[in-house]
Amino acid sequence: MVVILQKNAAESQVENVVKHLESFGFQINISVGAERTIIGAIGVKPNFDTRNISVLDGVEEVYRVTTPYKLAGRSFQEHNTVIKIKDVEIGGSHVAMMSGPCSVESEEQIFKLAKVVADSGAKILRGGAFKPRTSPYAFQGLGEEGLKLMRAAADQYNLLVITEVMQIEQIELIYKYSDIFQVGARNMQNFSLLKELGKIDKTIMLKRGIAATIEEWLMSAEYILAGGNKDVILCERGIRTFENATRNTFDLSAIPVIHKKSHLPIIADPSHATGLRDQVPPMARAAVAAGADGFMIEIHHDPEAALSDGPQALLPSTYLKLMEECRLIAQAIGRTL
Ligand code: PEP
Ligand code: MN
Repeated sequence: MVVILQKNAAESQVENVVKHLESFGFQINISVGAERTIIGAIGVKPNFDTRNISVLDGVEEVYRVTTPYKLAGRSFQEHNTVIKIKDVEIGGSHVAMMSGPCSVESEEQIFKLAKVVADSGAKILRGGAFKPRTSPYAFQGLGEEGLKLMRAAADQYNLLVITEVMQIEQIELIYKYSDIFQVGARNMQNFSLLKELGKIDKTIMLKRGIAATIEEWLMSAEYILAGGNKDVILCERGIRTFENATRNTFDLSAIPVIHKKSHLPIIADPSHATGLRDQVPPMARAAVAAGADGFMIEIHHDPEAALSDGPQALLPSTYLKLMEECRLIAQAIGRTL
Protein backbone atom coordinates (compact mmCIF):
# COMPACT_ATOMS: atom_id res chain seq x y z
CA MET A 1 0.00 0.00 0.00
CA VAL A 2 1.23 3.49 -0.81
CA VAL A 3 0.24 6.48 1.30
CA ILE A 4 0.75 9.93 -0.18
CA LEU A 5 0.76 12.78 2.32
CA GLN A 6 -0.52 16.28 1.73
CA LYS A 7 1.99 18.88 0.58
CA ASN A 8 1.96 20.72 3.87
CA ALA A 9 1.66 17.68 6.14
CA ALA A 10 3.25 18.32 9.52
CA GLU A 11 5.89 16.01 10.87
CA SER A 12 3.56 15.03 13.72
CA GLN A 13 0.93 13.97 11.13
CA VAL A 14 3.46 11.81 9.28
CA GLU A 15 4.45 10.23 12.58
CA ASN A 16 0.81 9.57 13.42
CA VAL A 17 0.24 7.81 10.06
CA VAL A 18 3.36 5.71 10.59
CA LYS A 19 2.20 4.80 14.10
CA HIS A 20 -1.18 3.64 12.74
CA LEU A 21 0.36 1.63 9.91
CA GLU A 22 2.71 -0.09 12.32
CA SER A 23 -0.13 -0.91 14.68
CA PHE A 24 -1.82 -2.72 11.75
CA GLY A 25 1.38 -4.72 11.27
CA PHE A 26 2.82 -3.01 8.18
CA GLN A 27 6.51 -2.46 7.65
CA ILE A 28 7.28 1.12 6.74
CA ASN A 29 9.40 2.69 4.05
CA ILE A 30 9.37 6.50 4.05
CA SER A 31 10.59 8.61 1.15
CA VAL A 32 10.74 12.33 1.63
CA GLY A 33 10.54 14.21 -1.65
CA ALA A 34 11.03 17.92 -2.33
CA GLU A 35 7.25 18.42 -2.38
CA ARG A 36 5.72 15.66 -0.30
CA THR A 37 6.31 12.55 1.74
CA ILE A 38 5.30 9.11 0.49
CA ILE A 39 5.00 6.12 2.80
CA GLY A 40 5.29 2.59 1.47
CA ALA A 41 3.40 0.19 3.77
CA ILE A 42 4.66 -3.35 3.19
CA GLY A 43 2.64 -6.43 4.15
CA VAL A 44 -0.01 -8.59 2.48
CA LYS A 45 -3.36 -7.87 4.16
CA PRO A 46 -6.20 -8.64 1.75
CA ASN A 47 -8.85 -7.56 4.26
CA PHE A 48 -7.28 -4.25 5.13
CA ASP A 49 -9.70 -1.34 4.82
CA THR A 50 -7.64 1.53 3.37
CA ARG A 51 -10.10 4.03 4.82
CA ASN A 52 -8.42 3.43 8.19
CA ILE A 53 -5.53 5.44 6.78
CA SER A 54 -7.26 7.82 4.36
CA VAL A 55 -9.21 9.41 7.23
CA LEU A 56 -6.05 10.42 9.11
CA ASP A 57 -4.98 14.06 9.15
CA GLY A 58 -2.38 14.95 6.54
CA VAL A 59 -3.19 12.03 4.19
CA GLU A 60 -3.99 12.86 0.57
CA GLU A 61 -4.33 9.47 -1.16
CA VAL A 62 -4.00 5.80 -0.31
CA TYR A 63 -3.39 3.23 -3.04
CA ARG A 64 -3.55 -0.50 -2.77
CA VAL A 65 -0.78 -2.39 -4.53
CA THR A 66 -2.21 -5.90 -4.11
CA THR A 67 -5.78 -6.97 -4.87
CA PRO A 68 -8.26 -7.81 -2.09
CA TYR A 69 -9.11 -11.06 -3.88
CA LYS A 70 -6.44 -13.69 -3.76
CA LEU A 71 -7.54 -16.98 -5.32
CA ALA A 72 -9.42 -15.32 -8.20
CA GLY A 73 -6.48 -13.16 -9.22
CA ARG A 74 -3.87 -13.67 -11.93
CA SER A 75 -1.13 -13.26 -9.35
CA PHE A 76 -2.38 -16.45 -7.66
CA GLN A 77 -2.49 -18.44 -10.91
CA GLU A 78 -0.85 -17.20 -14.07
CA HIS A 79 -2.38 -19.69 -16.51
CA ASN A 80 -6.06 -19.66 -17.48
CA THR A 81 -8.38 -21.98 -15.58
CA VAL A 82 -9.80 -24.53 -18.00
CA ILE A 83 -12.87 -26.32 -16.65
CA LYS A 84 -13.61 -29.76 -18.03
CA ILE A 85 -17.07 -31.25 -17.68
CA LYS A 86 -17.46 -34.58 -19.49
CA ASP A 87 -16.15 -33.78 -23.01
CA VAL A 88 -16.71 -30.01 -22.77
CA GLU A 89 -13.97 -27.52 -21.97
CA ILE A 90 -14.61 -23.97 -20.79
CA GLY A 91 -11.76 -21.48 -20.67
CA GLY A 92 -9.51 -23.10 -23.28
CA SER A 93 -9.20 -22.14 -26.95
CA HIS A 94 -12.72 -23.36 -27.72
CA VAL A 95 -15.54 -20.83 -27.32
CA ALA A 96 -18.21 -22.55 -25.23
CA MET A 97 -21.83 -21.98 -26.13
CA MET A 98 -24.75 -22.13 -23.71
CA SER A 99 -28.15 -21.70 -25.25
CA GLY A 100 -31.78 -22.48 -24.65
CA PRO A 101 -34.90 -20.80 -23.37
CA CYS A 102 -35.08 -18.35 -20.50
CA SER A 103 -37.44 -20.75 -18.69
CA VAL A 104 -38.28 -24.39 -19.19
CA GLU A 105 -41.99 -24.23 -20.07
CA SER A 106 -43.06 -27.65 -21.32
CA GLU A 107 -41.75 -30.97 -22.59
CA GLU A 108 -42.43 -30.01 -26.19
CA GLN A 109 -40.69 -26.64 -25.84
CA ILE A 110 -37.51 -27.90 -24.19
CA PHE A 111 -37.07 -30.90 -26.52
CA LYS A 112 -37.56 -28.72 -29.59
CA LEU A 113 -35.04 -26.18 -28.37
CA ALA A 114 -32.53 -28.79 -27.19
CA LYS A 115 -32.48 -30.08 -30.79
CA VAL A 116 -31.75 -26.56 -32.09
CA VAL A 117 -28.94 -26.21 -29.52
CA ALA A 118 -27.41 -29.54 -30.57
CA ASP A 119 -27.80 -28.71 -34.29
CA SER A 120 -25.89 -25.47 -33.75
CA GLY A 121 -22.90 -27.36 -32.37
CA ALA A 122 -23.37 -25.96 -28.86
CA LYS A 123 -22.82 -28.39 -26.01
CA ILE A 124 -24.65 -26.73 -23.11
CA LEU A 125 -28.40 -26.34 -22.70
CA ARG A 126 -29.58 -23.45 -20.56
CA GLY A 127 -33.03 -23.06 -19.01
CA GLY A 128 -34.47 -21.83 -15.76
CA ALA A 129 -36.63 -23.97 -13.47
CA PHE A 130 -36.46 -21.54 -10.55
CA LYS A 131 -36.87 -18.03 -11.90
CA PRO A 132 -35.92 -14.77 -10.15
CA ARG A 133 -38.70 -12.53 -11.45
CA THR A 134 -39.06 -8.84 -10.68
CA SER A 135 -42.80 -9.34 -10.20
CA PRO A 136 -44.15 -11.96 -7.77
CA TYR A 137 -47.10 -12.40 -10.19
CA ALA A 138 -44.86 -13.41 -13.13
CA PHE A 139 -44.11 -17.04 -14.04
CA GLN A 140 -41.80 -18.44 -11.35
CA GLY A 141 -40.61 -21.57 -13.17
CA LEU A 142 -41.67 -25.23 -13.19
CA GLY A 143 -39.40 -26.23 -10.30
CA GLU A 144 -38.36 -29.90 -10.16
CA GLU A 145 -40.60 -30.78 -13.10
CA GLY A 146 -38.62 -28.27 -15.20
CA LEU A 147 -35.32 -29.77 -14.04
CA LYS A 148 -36.46 -33.27 -15.00
CA LEU A 149 -37.60 -32.16 -18.45
CA MET A 150 -34.37 -30.29 -19.11
CA ARG A 151 -32.20 -33.22 -18.02
CA ALA A 152 -34.14 -35.59 -20.27
CA ALA A 153 -33.89 -33.24 -23.26
CA ALA A 154 -30.18 -32.64 -22.65
CA ASP A 155 -29.49 -36.38 -22.38
CA GLN A 156 -31.34 -37.08 -25.61
CA TYR A 157 -29.05 -34.64 -27.46
CA ASN A 158 -25.86 -35.24 -25.46
CA LEU A 159 -25.80 -31.79 -23.91
CA LEU A 160 -24.77 -30.45 -20.51
CA VAL A 161 -27.30 -28.58 -18.37
CA ILE A 162 -26.92 -25.17 -16.77
CA THR A 163 -29.69 -23.85 -14.56
CA GLU A 164 -30.11 -21.21 -11.89
CA VAL A 165 -29.98 -21.81 -8.15
CA MET A 166 -31.64 -19.11 -6.06
CA GLN A 167 -31.33 -20.42 -2.53
CA ILE A 168 -29.35 -22.86 -0.41
CA GLU A 169 -32.33 -25.22 -0.02
CA GLN A 170 -32.38 -25.83 -3.81
CA ILE A 171 -28.76 -26.97 -4.09
CA GLU A 172 -29.37 -30.64 -3.31
CA LEU A 173 -32.24 -30.92 -5.77
CA ILE A 174 -30.50 -29.06 -8.61
CA TYR A 175 -27.34 -31.11 -8.03
CA LYS A 176 -29.24 -34.22 -9.20
CA TYR A 177 -30.15 -32.72 -12.58
CA SER A 178 -27.63 -30.04 -13.52
CA ASP A 179 -23.98 -30.01 -14.56
CA ILE A 180 -23.46 -26.30 -13.92
CA PHE A 181 -25.10 -24.09 -11.30
CA GLN A 182 -25.90 -20.57 -12.42
CA VAL A 183 -25.90 -17.83 -9.78
CA GLY A 184 -28.01 -15.00 -11.16
CA ALA A 185 -27.24 -11.30 -11.11
CA ARG A 186 -29.62 -10.75 -8.20
CA ASN A 187 -27.77 -13.26 -6.05
CA MET A 188 -24.19 -12.26 -6.81
CA GLN A 189 -23.78 -11.03 -3.26
CA ASN A 190 -25.85 -13.70 -1.54
CA PHE A 191 -22.81 -14.68 0.45
CA SER A 192 -24.40 -17.55 2.35
CA LEU A 193 -25.42 -19.15 -0.98
CA LEU A 194 -21.91 -18.59 -2.40
CA LYS A 195 -20.33 -20.21 0.66
CA GLU A 196 -22.49 -23.34 0.24
CA LEU A 197 -21.64 -23.51 -3.47
CA GLY A 198 -17.99 -23.37 -2.47
CA LYS A 199 -18.43 -26.77 -0.83
CA ILE A 200 -19.79 -28.69 -3.82
CA ASP A 201 -17.99 -30.47 -6.65
CA LYS A 202 -19.85 -28.96 -9.61
CA THR A 203 -19.07 -25.89 -11.70
CA ILE A 204 -20.60 -22.55 -10.73
CA MET A 205 -21.30 -19.75 -13.23
CA LEU A 206 -21.44 -16.46 -11.35
CA LYS A 207 -23.27 -13.67 -13.14
CA ARG A 208 -22.24 -10.08 -12.52
CA GLY A 209 -24.62 -8.17 -10.25
CA ILE A 210 -26.74 -5.44 -11.77
CA ALA A 211 -24.73 -2.72 -10.02
CA ALA A 212 -21.53 -4.56 -9.16
CA THR A 213 -18.04 -3.35 -9.87
CA ILE A 214 -15.58 -5.83 -11.33
CA GLU A 215 -13.78 -5.95 -7.98
CA GLU A 216 -17.00 -6.77 -6.11
CA TRP A 217 -17.74 -9.47 -8.67
CA LEU A 218 -14.30 -11.03 -8.21
CA MET A 219 -14.74 -10.86 -4.44
CA SER A 220 -17.94 -12.89 -4.83
CA ALA A 221 -16.05 -15.45 -6.94
CA GLU A 222 -13.51 -15.50 -4.12
CA TYR A 223 -16.21 -16.72 -1.72
CA ILE A 224 -16.78 -19.82 -3.87
CA LEU A 225 -13.07 -20.42 -4.45
CA ALA A 226 -12.27 -19.95 -0.76
CA GLY A 227 -14.75 -22.71 0.07
CA GLY A 228 -12.66 -25.13 -2.03
CA ASN A 229 -14.58 -25.14 -5.31
CA LYS A 230 -12.12 -24.11 -8.02
CA ASP A 231 -14.52 -24.46 -10.95
CA VAL A 232 -15.91 -20.95 -11.25
CA ILE A 233 -16.97 -19.22 -14.46
CA LEU A 234 -17.81 -15.51 -14.59
CA CYS A 235 -20.63 -14.15 -16.76
CA GLU A 236 -21.03 -10.54 -17.89
CA ARG A 237 -24.76 -9.89 -18.35
CA GLY A 238 -24.94 -6.11 -18.46
CA ILE A 239 -25.05 -3.54 -15.70
CA ARG A 240 -27.50 -0.83 -14.70
CA THR A 241 -26.58 2.61 -16.04
CA PHE A 242 -28.46 5.82 -16.87
CA GLU A 243 -29.06 4.51 -20.41
CA ASN A 244 -32.54 3.14 -20.97
CA ALA A 245 -32.47 2.34 -24.68
CA THR A 246 -31.42 -1.18 -23.71
CA ARG A 247 -32.49 -3.32 -20.75
CA ASN A 248 -28.97 -3.07 -19.30
CA THR A 249 -25.68 -1.73 -20.59
CA PHE A 250 -23.43 -4.49 -21.91
CA ASP A 251 -20.01 -3.93 -20.39
CA LEU A 252 -17.98 -5.45 -23.18
CA SER A 253 -14.76 -4.07 -21.75
CA ALA A 254 -15.25 -6.28 -18.69
CA ILE A 255 -14.05 -9.18 -20.89
CA PRO A 256 -10.44 -7.98 -21.40
CA VAL A 257 -10.40 -6.52 -17.89
CA ILE A 258 -11.32 -9.90 -16.38
CA HIS A 259 -8.77 -11.67 -18.56
CA LYS A 260 -6.12 -9.34 -17.20
CA LYS A 261 -7.13 -9.49 -13.55
CA SER A 262 -8.26 -13.11 -13.26
CA HIS A 263 -7.52 -16.59 -14.57
CA LEU A 264 -11.21 -17.58 -14.48
CA PRO A 265 -13.15 -18.09 -17.75
CA ILE A 266 -15.61 -15.37 -18.73
CA ILE A 267 -18.84 -15.91 -20.61
CA ALA A 268 -20.87 -13.12 -22.23
CA ASP A 269 -24.65 -12.95 -22.01
CA PRO A 270 -25.83 -10.50 -24.67
CA SER A 271 -29.47 -11.60 -24.18
CA HIS A 272 -29.90 -10.15 -20.68
CA ALA A 273 -27.40 -7.38 -21.40
CA THR A 274 -29.52 -5.85 -24.16
CA GLY A 275 -32.97 -7.35 -23.55
CA LEU A 276 -33.92 -6.78 -27.18
CA ARG A 277 -33.76 -9.42 -29.88
CA ASP A 278 -32.28 -7.28 -32.67
CA GLN A 279 -29.38 -6.20 -30.45
CA VAL A 280 -28.33 -9.68 -29.37
CA PRO A 281 -26.46 -10.81 -32.54
CA PRO A 282 -24.22 -7.72 -32.86
CA MET A 283 -23.28 -7.92 -29.19
CA ALA A 284 -22.68 -11.67 -29.37
CA ARG A 285 -20.34 -11.14 -32.33
CA ALA A 286 -18.56 -8.37 -30.44
CA ALA A 287 -18.17 -10.61 -27.38
CA VAL A 288 -16.42 -13.32 -29.38
CA ALA A 289 -14.15 -10.72 -30.96
CA ALA A 290 -13.38 -9.30 -27.50
CA GLY A 291 -12.16 -12.70 -26.32
CA ALA A 292 -15.11 -14.11 -24.36
CA ASP A 293 -14.61 -17.77 -23.48
CA GLY A 294 -18.17 -18.44 -24.46
CA PHE A 295 -21.59 -16.95 -24.55
CA MET A 296 -25.08 -17.56 -23.33
CA ILE A 297 -27.99 -16.92 -25.67
CA GLU A 298 -31.72 -17.24 -25.05
CA ILE A 299 -33.71 -18.82 -27.87
CA HIS A 300 -37.38 -19.68 -28.38
CA HIS A 301 -39.35 -21.16 -31.28
CA ASP A 302 -42.34 -18.94 -30.42
CA PRO A 303 -40.99 -15.89 -28.54
CA GLU A 304 -44.37 -14.13 -28.45
CA ALA A 305 -45.76 -16.99 -26.39
CA ALA A 306 -42.69 -17.31 -24.12
CA LEU A 307 -43.44 -17.22 -20.39
CA SER A 308 -40.35 -15.09 -19.69
CA ASP A 309 -37.93 -12.90 -21.65
CA GLY A 310 -39.64 -13.44 -25.04
CA PRO A 311 -38.51 -10.04 -26.42
CA GLN A 312 -34.86 -11.01 -26.13
CA ALA A 313 -35.18 -14.58 -27.41
CA LEU A 314 -33.76 -15.34 -30.83
CA LEU A 315 -35.70 -17.49 -33.25
CA PRO A 316 -33.85 -20.73 -34.07
CA SER A 317 -33.09 -19.56 -37.63
CA THR A 318 -31.49 -16.29 -36.43
CA TYR A 319 -29.58 -18.15 -33.77
CA LEU A 320 -28.18 -20.73 -36.21
CA LYS A 321 -27.02 -17.94 -38.54
CA LEU A 322 -25.41 -16.13 -35.60
CA MET A 323 -23.49 -19.24 -34.64
CA GLU A 324 -22.01 -19.43 -38.15
CA GLU A 325 -20.95 -15.79 -38.00
CA CYS A 326 -19.41 -16.22 -34.56
CA ARG A 327 -17.55 -19.28 -35.78
CA LEU A 328 -15.79 -17.15 -38.41
CA ILE A 329 -14.91 -14.50 -35.84
CA ALA A 330 -13.57 -17.15 -33.46
CA GLN A 331 -11.39 -18.53 -36.27
CA ALA A 332 -10.03 -15.07 -37.04
CA ILE A 333 -8.69 -14.79 -33.48
CA GLY A 334 -7.29 -18.32 -33.40
CA ARG A 335 -10.13 -20.02 -31.53
CA THR A 336 -12.72 -22.61 -32.40
CA LEU A 337 -16.45 -22.57 -31.80
C1 PEP B 1 -31.46 -15.76 -16.67
O1 PEP B 1 -30.37 -16.24 -17.04
O2 PEP B 1 -32.55 -16.11 -17.16
C2 PEP B 1 -31.45 -14.66 -15.68
C3 PEP B 1 -32.51 -14.42 -14.91
O3 PEP B 1 -30.31 -13.96 -15.70
P1 PEP B 1 -29.80 -12.69 -14.84
O4 PEP B 1 -29.53 -13.20 -13.47
O5 PEP B 1 -28.56 -12.27 -15.58
O6 PEP B 1 -30.86 -11.64 -14.88
MN1 MN C 1 -33.91 -14.77 -19.02
